[in-house]
This record gives sequence, structure tokens and C-alpha cells, in this order.
Amino acid sequence: MPVKPVYEDINIPNVDLWTYLFERKDKPWSDDKEIYIDAGTKRSYTWLQVKNTAIEFGRGLRSQWGFKKGDVLGFFTPNSIDYAPVFFGVHYIGGTASTANPTYTAKELAFQMKDSNVKGIVTQLPMLPVVREAARAIGLPEDRIIILGDGRDPSGKIKHFTEIKHTGFLGAFNQGQTRVDPKKDVAFLVYSSGTTGLPKGVQLTHFNIVSNIAQLDYVDRFNGLYHSNGFDGQGDKQLAILPFFHCYGLTCIALSGIRMGLPVIVLPKFELEKACQAIQEFGITFASIPPPVVLALAKHPAVSKYDLSSIKFMNSGAAPLGRDLVEMVWDRLTIPIMQGYGLSETAPTLTKGIICDWKRYNGSAGKLLPNIEAKIVDLEGQELPIGKEGELWVKGPNVFPGYLNRPDLHKDTFSDDDYFKTGDIGYFDDKGNLYITDRLKELIKYSEYNVLFVVSAFPPQCNPFVDDEKRPRKQTKPSESCIDRADTGKIEGFQVAPAELEGILQRHNDIADACVIPAHDRQRETEVPRAYLVLKPSVPRDDAKAQEIIAWLDSRVGNHKRLRGGIRFIDEIPKNASGKLLRRVLKEQAKAEDRAA
Ligand code: AMP
Repeated sequence: MPVKPVYEDINIPNVDLWTYLFERKDKPWSDDKEIYIDAGTKRSYTWLQVKNTAIEFGRGLRSQWGFKKGDVLGFFTPNSIDYAPVFFGVHYIGGTASTANPTYTAKELAFQMKDSNVKGIVTQLPMLPVVREAARAIGLPEDRIIILGDGRDPSGKIKHFTEIKHTGFLGAFNQGQTRVDPKKDVAFLVYSSGTTGLPKGVQLTHFNIVSNIAQLDYVDRFNGLYHSNGFDGQGDKQLAILPFFHCYGLTCIALSGIRMGLPVIVLPKFELEKACQAIQEFGITFASIPPPVVLALAKHPAVSKYDLSSIKFMNSGAAPLGRDLVEMVWDRLTIPIMQGYGLSETAPTLTKGIICDWKRYNGSAGKLLPNIEAKIVDLEGQELPIGKEGELWVKGPNVFPGYLNRPDLHKDTFSDDDYFKTGDIGYFDDKGNLYITDRLKELIKYSEYNVLFVVSAFPPQCNPFVDDEKRPRKQTKPSESCIDRADTGKIEGFQVAPAELEGILQRHNDIADACVIPAHDRQRETEVPRAYLVLKPSVPRDDAKAQEIIAWLDSRVGNHKRLRGGIRFIDEIPKNASGKLLRRVLKEQAKAEDRAA
């Protein structure tokens, strides 16, 4: 039996995003409620200004460019209060917004813009050189670049979005909203995180997005925060430090904010002190954050300089979060941190914690949102019972229809009975809480010999009871005869979850940040966990420190989880803009180190 949400199904209207946000009759606040506010300049948009700006821009695109239904506009910009009004303009005229990571190189940007076949690219002044190069590479004329934000092109060649207005003959006609099919037409093309494989265009239909906003809105009423149907929303404000190009920041902040009437205080990027400053200055009550920010809240000395007492709770998502960090934030700041979990492919949220539960189920990624069903399956796709760990498969109105131009991936992405295969490993408890333990692709597969073996039957090189160091080094791969004998007890591959080791390492007083990846142990022909660590500034990075940390960790974990791959000290753990560890970067580094050894 699939796992069902603890909530009743909700009614999700079959409407496009524009209609859901701007043509509603049940909006409980006035048109002049401020929705997007720049934390630095204090420039802002009220709800009505967002709507009018979007209409103006959309009509301008239609009349000046001949932009039509199904056309795509690219976005390559850090967060700005102009971001959402501009992409809503695209939706008004039936188009799609393809949002790109603003730290991309020209080559990476060109890849996405070409893949999504954009008719133009929206950016900010400082990023113009990168956009120009990308535009040249894909044959996009320079007048198809548009600027948003406070800067203007000094040469006057590149238009600011406020100059895209309906004009001339064509402008006089066809000024209304373009109708789309909510279940077929794509509102956003976001590119999946890139932590595995080449980025792929995740097609999110209007219905996917409307569903996820509605599902989040429903659950957030249990959190006593803002609520679009009337009883609250006054005084609550949320902090936007997550990038809007990523589905987490897009749906959970930019879109939820305007649907729920929850003012969004926008920072262009995450800087700890500026974020704390904004919380204090605006009296911010809520923030969606990634785990690195939780780490900073738990450990960074600068946090103590600010009054963060207005925060009711925070929601962490996008990557695994250790229980201990949550406790450390609670002990230090009395801020509850709950988790949400999801993927770009699910628009994005699948599960979310609720406030009355957060402490009891610390470590859980929360409960399924309404209208979603899930199952946990083994490697053969067979459903596993509650409590058993396996791959998570899901079904629901927020699940995307497939990757752009990649029908070949459909079979691997969806099961025969139409479940989306998340590639994440986890389990549900009997109260409906999901625990994500790792990603299928990131698991470290460590092989060892099962203790059921009869000790005397083993040659010394594969005897599990012989101390690692005393094993002969020459022939460490088990011989065929050893494997034969092992048939009754079998050779066992252990799965080590890097996230678990990272969570423990982050508790060590000398460690600022940690990433664990599989290294290749040629001696034992197996993957072994290796830790890349950032130490706190005054801590020596020497062999003695490495040995001390290894011994410290080894005493806290089971035998198969020991850091057999050793420790490497580095300056910074590579992360993408949404805070997700770029494990593959360190995996590549480990491969190079292993080759050189
Ligand atoms: P993205 O498509 O960039 O949003 O990445 C989705 C992936 O982020 C998921 O497949 C998970 O591996 C990871 N993720 C998101 N939220 C969580 C969470 N709360 N705990 C563990 N992993 C998470």
C-alpha cells in the first residue's frame, strides 16, 4: 500500500498560474500590500504594482518582439524585486520562463539558453559581458537582451525591462491574457541541480506550480504563519536569500509570497551578516534556508551580534540536515528549524514538517503534502514496508511531466505505474514522517566480508577478524576460493551514507564544514569514505590533527563507516547557489589524488 498524506486531499483548481495569482476573488488583503521589498534600497512592489508591471511588460514583449504562446524567455540574474514581476509578464502572454544559475559561465549559460530555445535573456548590468558572450554563441541578437534591477546600460543599447511597453499598431490589439492549458503548458523550465550528470530542463506546467503553492499554503496553516484565507498574514514577513532561479526559492518564496500575501524581503545573495541585519531591521518572522545557513546559525560568531527573536521558525531544505545542527540552533537562538524535502522535478516540495512536531521528529524531512502518494521500493522496484529503507517514488499533481527534449529519459525517470523515481533513499515512520538518508547515486559502497564466515576458512587477506593493518598488502582481493567458501555467508557490500558522516563531523569543535565522498581503495578494491574538511581558522592542518579526527569519528560510528579513505583539508567545500554540496567536484579531486598516489 502506498504511503498517503496525513491530510485529506485538497481541491486544486485547474487554472494557469496568472489566473491563480492575479484573477482571484478571495484575496484577503488590499491591493497596496507590499509584497517584494529590497532589503538594501527599500524599493518595493505592492501586489497591484506586481500585476500592472507584469501586464505592461508582457504586452510590450508581445508587440515589440512578436513574443507568442509557448515562447521562452531566459533569466540570468541574482535575486531582485523585479525578477517575479518580469516573469509574470511572460506568463501573462502564455510564455515560459527558463531560469538559469547566475554564477554560470558564458558556456554553461549558452547550453541552457540553447537547450530551452530562448527568444531573449533577462539579466542585470554587471552580468552583461557573460550574457553577450552566451548570446553570441547561440546566435541571439544583442537587442534580445533585457536588463532588470537598478542599473542601466550606459551605452543605451540594451533596454531596461521598463522600456518594453506595448506600442504602435500591434500594441493597440490583443492586449488581454493569453489562455494556456494548465496541465500541458509549461510555466517554468528550471534546470536540475547538476550534482549528477548534465543539467536537464525540468518542465513545470502551470498546474504543477499552482498545485505546489496550494499544497504549501494548506500545510502552512498548521504552522500558524501566514495564511491566504484570512485569519493571519498580518505582520509576518519572510526573508529571501535562496535564489529565485532554483525551484526552492522560486515556489517557496517568490510565488508563495505573492499568493499568501507574505512580504518577501529580498537580498541579492546570501551574506550572513546582511541576512541577520535584515531580520533585525524588518522584524522578519520566517525564512526558507539551506543547511549551510543552519550551520552558520549554529556556529558563526557574528550571529550573536543581532537580535533574531522575531523569527517564529525556519524551514531547511535542498540538502540533508543533521539533527545536531538543529539542536545547536535551538540551544543558541531558540529558533525551531523544520525540514522540507523535494526536487526541482516536483515543483519542488513533497514533504514538510509541522511546528507542533518539530522537536519530536527532528531529523525527519516532514510529512507528505496533501494529494501526494509515495512508496519506498527496493532495487527491483518492489514496495517495502513502513520503516524499511529504500528508494522513494512519488505521484502527485506537482510531479513534472518529463525533461525537455529528453523522451529517452522517461523510462528511467518514471515507473511503469507512473511513479516518479526520486533517486533518494529514505524511509517513513508509522506517523508518516519521511527520513531521507541519502541519494541513491551518492552512496558509498564499502565491501567487507560477512562475519558469518568461518574464520579459519579464510586466507589472511580476507579474514574479517584480522586487523586491517596486519593484513598482507599484496593480494588483498579475495581469491575465487574465498568467494566460493563465502557462499553461505556471502560477501557483503555496505552502504555508507556520506550525509550521516558529515553530520557527525560537523559536531567536532575544530571543524567548520565537511564533505564525505567515496574514494577508491586499491588495496581492498572497494570504495571507502574520505572526508574533505574545512577547519576553523586557528586549527593546525597537520597529520596529527587528521589522525585525531579519524580516531574521534571512528569511536562514534560502526566499523564499515570508518574513514578508511582518510582526511584531506581544504579551504572551502564546493556548493552550488542553492547550498547543495557539489560532491562530484570532490569526487573528481579524489580520483586525481588516487591516480597520483
Ligand atoms: P534539486 O532538484 O536541486 O532541488 O535537488 C533535489 C535533491 O536535493 C533531492 O533529490 C535530494 O537529494 C536533495 N534534498 C532536497 N531536500 C532534502 C532534504 N530535506 N534532505 C535530504 N536531501 C534533500
